[in-house]
Amino acid sequence: MKKRINIQFIAVAITAIFLTLILAVTAFYQAFEKEIFDNLKTYVAGIKSTGEFDDPQKCDYQSDSEIRLTLIDKKGVVLYDSGIDITKLNNHYNRPEVKHALKDGAGRAVRKSSSAKINTYYYAVKLDNGNVLRAAKKSGSVWGILSDLIFYIMCIAVFMIACCMVLAHLLTKSLITPIEHMAEQIDDTENVHVYKEMAPFVTMIRKQHEDIMKNAKMRQEFTANVSHELKTPLTSISGYSELIENGMATDQDVIRFAREIHKNSNRLLTLINDIIRLSELDVMDQTVEMEALDMYTIADNCVNMLGVNAENHGVTIQLHGRKSMIMANKEMMEELVYNLCDNAIRYNKKGGRVDVTVDMYESGNELRPYLAVKDTGIGISKQHQERIFERFYRVDKSRSKSTGGTGLGLAIVKHILVQHNAIMELESEKGEGTEIKVIFTK
Ligand code: ADP
Repeated sequence: MKKRINIQFIAVAITAIFLTLILAVTAFYQAFEKEIFDNLKTYVAGIKSTGEFDDPQKCDYQSDSEIRLTLIDKKGVVLYDSGIDITKLNNHYNRPEVKHALKDGAGRAVRKSSSAKINTYYYAVKLDNGNVLRAAKKSGSVWGILSDLIFYIMCIAVFMIACCMVLAHLLTKSLITPIEHMAEQIDDTENVHVYKEMAPFVTMIRKQHEDIMKNAKMRQEFTANVSHELKTPLTSISGYSELIENGMATDQDVIRFAREIHKNSNRLLTLINDIIRLSELDVMDQTVEMEALDMYTIADNCVNMLGVNAENHGVTIQLHGRKSMIMANKEMMEELVYNLCDNAIRYNKKGGRVDVTVDMYESGNELRPYLAVKDTGIGISKQHQERIFERFYRVDKSRSKSTGGTGLGLAIVKHILVQHNAIMELESEKGEGTEIKVIFTK
């Protein structure tokens, strides 16, 4: 990348240098040509004003400069030439400068000599008697001038290219160095000095890096928790089965141990199911199939299904409210209601109540469906309220375990809420009870 930027800078600089040189030489040559014609014009005008060339017989011009004078009559016949024997000259009528002078009073032309390096510049004027007086001067062509100067031009070009290379190198370095520093110190981007335009980029990288680190930490913790959670029931299963295998258990023990093995393997299954469910939810972030659902019907089915469970815990469960339509994934909604109601039963007191409400409430000028699960159970103290949605976080581990909890139920609920753009409100008082309210966007 560094090399590419460098090369591009140099390429731009070289192009600019050559363009400048070509344009400068062209402009210089045009000024040079104008100067020659201006000189010839003044020269011819001076001679014309002396009247010396009015009579061809009397012309006696001694050429003391590089300017050659020619007198041509109306038909193009050369009457006099200061440089060449006129008998050797053919008719000049078709020479452009002569033609123009005869027609418009003055004419000019440039003709290449045998070698491309020299040009001859002609300027002609019509005299009062109708003849044409022409002055000619030889001078270097643009190529001639260029070839004379090529060495100096190349020296200047090489010097300028060398300067550009140094500048390009410094410029590339000033652009790239902060990026390199940042890449080297990705953990400490605060101390990297960056230029203004890079600041949003650095902020984004910093945020992404923090997110990655946070995610990595979460995954690490989750893996450690999973291993720990799986280890306990597996150790029990392994221990009890070993006792049976060694013949160290009486017939009655065998039944008791088998019950323990059964209980622990069920626990393992529940745990594994919840872990699989969470990772499924992690993967299907954007691809949830939504349909129009009546939340009241879903809650009704769930309340009926949990009736026996509630009775076993000495808890009354009841549904209130009315039909409320939402766009949601059916399976996830069933899971959501089940997890909240199951918790409300399990963390309740004997003779307690669970009230499930599905209804709509007015927010601004729209109706918002909501689900509320309220219990008269043990409640959650303030310090735990924020954390109960974390994976494997339990307020009372033994109570959770003894009632078949995995510590993953509310983490699954949180995931489902995010996928449905729903918000949640938790109100709880230790010893009094808990209310969890889920508010859906229509
Ligand atoms: P678990 O499987 O342990 O119930 P959850 O993720 O469902 O896991 O809940 C996390 C913790 O939040 C529970 O262990 C419990 O301590 C607390 N909790 C959840 N719901 C209630 C509730 N309705 N009343 C009191 N505590 C609750």
